[in-house]
Amino acid sequence: MSADVPHDSRRYVLVYSDRYVADIGPHVFPVAKYPMVVAELIHRCGVARSEFMEPTAPTREQLALVHTTEYLDDFLSARWTPRTAASEMPLTREIVDAYVLSAGGTLLAAREAVRRRGFGIHIGGGFHHTFPDHAEGFCYLNDIAVAIRVLQHEGVIRRAAVVDCDVHQGNGTARIFQHDSDVFTLSIHQYHNYPPKEKSDLDIGLRDGAGDEEYLVALGEALPARLEAHRPDLVIYNAGADPYEHDLLGGLALTKKGLARRDELVIGWCAAHSVPIVSLLAGGYAADTGDTVDIHVNTCQTMIEAARRAERVV
Ligand SMILES: [Zn+2]
Repeated sequence: MSADVPHDSRRYVLVYSDRYVADIGPHVFPVAKYPMVVAELIHRCGVARSEFMEPTAPTREQLALVHTTEYLDDFLSARWTPRTAASEMPLTREIVDAYVLSAGGTLLAAREAVRRRGFGIHIGGGFHHTFPDHAEGFCYLNDIAVAIRVLQHEGVIRRAAVVDCDVHQGNGTARIFQHDSDVFTLSIHQYHNYPPKEKSDLDIGLRDGAGDEEYLVALGEALPARLEAHRPDLVIYNAGADPYEHDLLGGLALTKKGLARRDELVIGWCAAHSVPIVSLLAGGYAADTGDTVDIHVNTCQTMIEAARRAERVV
C-alpha cells in the first residue's frame, strides 16, 4: 500500500510554493492555476498538503551556469531593459522572486527524482522561452536549463533529455543546449505559431489543427528510439497544457484523452527504463482555466500512479 510507504522512501516528490502566485495584473497567463492544481491533486490523488516540498531560491552562481551576468543584473534588480522587456510580462520584485523560486522548484524536483530514482512533480516551471541573455514569451529564467546545469555541475547527472510537449517550441532551451551532446532536446509543437524557431536535436513541427492521432503517432515514432539512443540520467518533461483543442494561444486540436495518452507515452517510457523524470506545468491558456487545471492534474496523476507502481515492485 502506497500510504504505508514512508514519505522519504516514496518514489515521487511533489514541489510547490504559494509564492508562485505573483500579481501580474490582467494577463492571459493564469497564475491562479497553481493553487487550483494543488487543491485538485489533494482531492483526486489522496496526497496531503504537507507532502508538497517548498523549494528554496537557487544562488546567483547557480543561475549563472545558464544566464549571462548582464541579464541577471537586470532581471534580479527588476530593471526594465531590452533584455527583460522582451518578456511580455510585467516586472516587479514579487515577480522576480516567483521566477527565481520556480527555478528552485524545478531544481528540487529534479534532484529528488534522481535521488529517489523516480518521479519529480513540479507544480510550476517550464519557462522554456528564456535565452541565456534575455527573457521571452512569459519566461524570465530557464528553469529547465538551470536544473540540468546545476546537477551536471555537481556531478549528480551527466546526460539529460528535455521532452518539450508545450504547443510552442522550446526555443530558449534548444539554443542553450544546441552544441551540447550530453543534453538531447526534443520539441513537438505547432509549427506555425510563436516563437521564431531555434534548432532542437529533434523538432517535430505539426500542422495547424493536428489532432490526437497525428500527434501521438509522431511522438510515438520518435521518442522511444531517440531516448534509448541517448541514455539520459534524467528526463525533463515539459508538459504544457496548451496543445489542447480549446486553448486560446495554441492551434493544435488535442483532446484531454489525447493529452493523457501523451503523458503515458513519455512517463511510461521513463518508468519502463527506470529513468528519473521531472514533469513541469509550462503553458496552458484554455478559455476555461478549469480545463487547463484538469490537463495538468492528469499529468501529475499519471506521474503519481507510475511512482506507486514502482514502489510496489521494489
Ligand atoms: Zn506554450
